[in-house]
Amino acid sequence: MISVQEAKSIISNNIQPLGFETVSLKNAGNRVLAQDITATFPMPQFDNSSMDGFAVRAVDTEGADVLSPVILKMVGISSAGTPCDVILKSGQCAQCMTGAVIPDGADAIIIVENTSGFLDSETVYIFQEAKIGEHIRRKGEEIQKDEILLSRGICITPNEIGTLASFGYDKISFMKIPKIAIIVTGSELIEPGNKIELGRIYNSNLYMIAELAKKSRVEIVMREVIKDDKDYLCRLLSEALQTCDVIISSGGISMGRFDYMREVYNKLGVQEHFWKVAQKPGKPLFFGTLDSKLIFGLPGNPVSSFICYMEYIYPVLQDMQKKTKDFKQQAILTETFPVDSKKHRYLFGRSWIDSSGRLLCSPTSKTGSHMVTAFLGSNCIMVSPPGKKFMKKGDKITINQLNWRNNERSF
Ligand code: AMP
Ligand code: MG
Repeated sequence: MISVQEAKSIISNNIQPLGFETVSLKNAGNRVLAQDITATFPMPQFDNSSMDGFAVRAVDTEGADVLSPVILKMVGISSAGTPCDVILKSGQCAQCMTGAVIPDGADAIIIVENTSGFLDSETVYIFQEAKIGEHIRRKGEEIQKDEILLSRGICITPNEIGTLASFGYDKISFMKIPKIAIIVTGSELIEPGNKIELGRIYNSNLYMIAELAKKSRVEIVMREVIKDDKDYLCRLLSEALQTCDVIISSGGISMGRFDYMREVYNKLGVQEHFWKVAQKPGKPLFFGTLDSKLIFGLPGNPVSSFICYMEYIYPVLQDMQKKTKDFKQQAILTETFPVDSKKHRYLFGRSWIDSSGRLLCSPTSKTGSHMVTAFLGSNCIMVSPPGKKFMKKGDKITINQLNWRNNERSF
């Protein structure tokens, strides 16, 4: 049996990056960039108007006001997307809409409200003087060509996607998403919705693990419930090993007569890195690899499955694409916490911030690893390393926040 620290370091030494793939812009949301994104051109690309109005030579408008307007000759219309190819000469102006190219020769925009308006007439009355550069957005004033806009490793959210589009990016290199298989085992399992019989239980782990997996950027390729049948397990797992990067099984990894998972993994050529970790719950946790594939065998008790997933698999799935921050924090215990002399102890807990800003925490009331309601009301997993007899009220304890409980994004 190895320690929690050893188990975690063995896993992290076996994570291989998944490589890159090209993804089109419409599927870029939530993906992690595998390339730097630079400005493909200066922004704005060309001098353009920030208002609907008339492009003028400022000098021509000198002295203009409502009582003594300047009269200019309208020689063209520049609208967004359709520039007009005139060169303004003295005494001339052109209609120029928001976002439209500023005609050559013009050096200011008079807003339409300060003119006689967009009429078909060639004669335009200007009621205000223009200042040079007024209402003109200059080429490159926002960003120069080749400036880095987004760095490799950034996750694309609504904040970034518009920028990618604005610079014309369509095919972009992203980190590959791990393909995962979730396989829950147990001849006693019945799917929710069916009639329950004595001795059998509803399968909850598949739904729970799939929901946990959705908190990371993964593609769930297989999700199966199977009986404790060695041949069938062998067939299904060999398929999973061919199609997926990460295999997560639940159940059948302990000492029971029908616990076949370890034997099956070994038979399929999986290299066992560890089986059994000094922790409670979750002692029979299995970890192996086959080439670059990671294989996790979780114990079947729902609480053990959940805690092992959060402690061992969740960080791996996050890190496969992008190093993420550790959600572990220190909180002050408001109740005594059981400690084991040789094992790490994990319990679901509830953390909160008190009126003086301190992070407090206490275990939830259901503490058995078989208890199917232990998760309810909890927003963290509390962890104590092996050691002294008890952690007392007022002691600091490490907690692993279930960050979706605090309205934070998990990636
Ligand atoms: P095992 O690890 O297969 O020995 O299972 C340990 C306990 O967890 C047993 O009581 C199982 O019935 C229960 N269990 C196993 N798989 C599941 C599952 N998918 N959903 C709910 N409970 C399960
Ligand atoms: Mg079982």
